[in-house]
Amino acid sequence: MIDTHDETKPTRVWCCGECGEPHRWQDAAVECCTNPPYEAWACGRCGEPHTEHDNARLCCVDERGEPLPPSAAELEARGQQRLPLPA
Ligand SMILES: [Zn+2]
Ligand SMILES: [Zn+2]
Repeated sequence: MIDTHDETKPTRVWCCGECGEPHRWQDAAVECCTNPPYEAWACGRCGEPHTEHDNARLCCVDERGEPLPPSAAELEARGQQRLPLPA
């Protein structure tokens, strides 16, 4: 299987039916809490789960379908310095 990782592509996840935590595997979601899990799509960028594939696909893209520039928090997570705010 060729794994062409596209960071904007939503991934299939199973969300816990109780706490809503997304899990890669159905078994893990079943074991999470007592309520049965439901299938969802996780945004390829931020990992936020959406029940509609389109919503996950459009989560972190702008209206032209271009990926949004990384947020300040994302840049910080990558170890870059946040730009100083203008005085
Ligand atoms: Zn749970
Ligand atoms: Zn997102």
